[in-house]
Amino acid sequence: MTGKVWLVGAGPGDPDLLTVRAARLVANADVVVHDALVGDGVLALVNSRADVIDVGKRAGRGVPQELTNELLIALASQDHQVVRLKGGDPFVFGRGGEEAAALLDAGVPFEVVPGITSAVAAPAAAGVPVTHRGVSAAVTVVTGHRRSGEPDVDWQSLAKVGGTIVILMGVTERGTIAAGLIAGGLPADTPVAAVRSATMADELTLRCRLDELAGADIASPSVIVIGAVAALDFRSKQLIEGSRTERSLSRLDRNGSPDRGGRAERPRQPGRR
Ligand code: SAH
Repeated sequence: MTGKVWLVGAGPGDPDLLTVRAARLVANADVVVHDALVGDGVLALVNSRADVIDVGKRAGRGVPQELTNELLIALASQDHQVVRLKGGDPFVFGRGGEEAAALLDAGVPFEVVPGITSAVAAPAAAGVPVTHRGVSAAVTVVTGHRRSGEPDVDWQSLAKVGGTIVILMGVTERGTIAAGLIAGGLPADTPVAAVRSATMADELTLRCRLDELAGADIASPSVIVIGAVAALDFRSKQLIEGSRTERSLSRLDRNGSPDRGGRAERPRQPGRR
């Protein structure tokens, strides 16, 4: 078999945040199999002669995982150079491990190419460092998604771990998550930053307190950051004023202190990305 599969992390969305290796592979692949979260900017770098297959799972639809596994095996068996493009990093809630296991079982050669995960890129886009000396010495990355009705995460126990909590796929369950964390002992005024479509044209950051998270207007895909660092905003003034959209629900300002008016939405400047 001369075919091969590369399980490639596409980063959070902005094509500039692809690794050099990912960009080279995307430009040279003859088949690209991608998820819903892979941005148009990244797909624009695909070789025009390549076949592009969307197996996206947005909103519960999309190709079942087993079929995707079979597709990758079949394509490699037909001697294709296959890039399996996944948002962020393939091994962070990307089911990359399942695909790797299927390829291993089938004897298909493959390589994993790590990507910049949204778990750190989305907070960074909003100026939030997930750890900060004297503020947070740990970061826990969790899924907010539930399988078969059972919570995957014990939120009350997580509240006792300390440090920063970064939640992926947490939009739908945000009320349950906030209630569990507060029941576990996190203060109701713990800062929260939710970053939607980080590094993409419609990026939006919403800041609020933990007890406001349930009612906050947050849409997918968003990364929700909970903890003292979520009140920080390390971006240069020009970037904040000029190019990002920000909303503040609550009494928190950028330094975590009481704010009277809240911040208005600022449109992104045309011409940036
Ligand atoms: N492997 C991916 C995560 C896949 S799970 C990674 O490493 O980033 C899908 C979840 O990732 C989404 O529900 C959302 O929580 C988060 N996500 C991915 N890209 C994002 C982006 N550009 N902005 C905000 N959240 C994003």
